[in-house]
Amino acid sequence: MASKALPRGRSRMSARKLDAPPAAPTPPLGAGRACAVLVLNASYEPMGVVSVRRAVILLLTAKASCVADGDGLLHSARHELPVPSVVRLNRYVRVPYRPQVTLTRRAVFARDGGRCAYCRGPAETIDHVHPRSRGGRHVWENVVAACARCNHAKGSRTLAELGWTPHVVPAAPRGVAWRVLGHRASDPRWADWVETSQTAHAGVDERAA
Ligand SMILES: [Zn+2]
Repeated sequence: MASKALPRGRSRMSARKLDAPPAAPTPPLGAGRACAVLVLNASYEPMGVVSVRRAVILLLTAKASCVADGDGLLHSARHELPVPSVVRLNRYVRVPYRPQVTLTRRAVFARDGGRCAYCRGPAETIDHVHPRSRGGRHVWENVVAACARCNHAKGSRTLAELGWTPHVVPAAPRGVAWRVLGHRASDPRWADWVETSQTAHAGVDERAA
């Protein structure tokens, strides 16, 4: 993820130091979605998502400034500050260009909306459209979410052999939101920085039913 480009090592060290009292404030229980914080580069370009704890350490070590508050307050012996929702790094960090979203099971499920490419039922498995045993590659363009029933029925046959037409044309997810959020759900408070309207099925062309 883009968060690799964040000053992780240093903030981890800071985190360890801050583990001793007075510790960085801990998020309130049940903070739910507020536990994720969007990190912007100094240029306001979205970089990634971190935990509230890590975001607070970035704030307390003056590496970042809060841009948008989340819900509630964080308390520690010395500090009281609003739960951050968006923070911005105070110094610009050069982000290496990542051409593609990493192919993971969770990301495939997110891309395909958790639905089977063949019957649109709830997906539980990952299927290689062109079977691996027949030379199919493990790439975004050849991987779809599938229900166990369709996956089993398909076996090691090709779609042509089965006469099946999938509901989606698999492709690598595109766009800033995918690069920044990956499979994570967005937060409405991040809308100013991360355009998420095309994320749900970015990378999948839905065929007309
Ligand atoms: Zn199915």
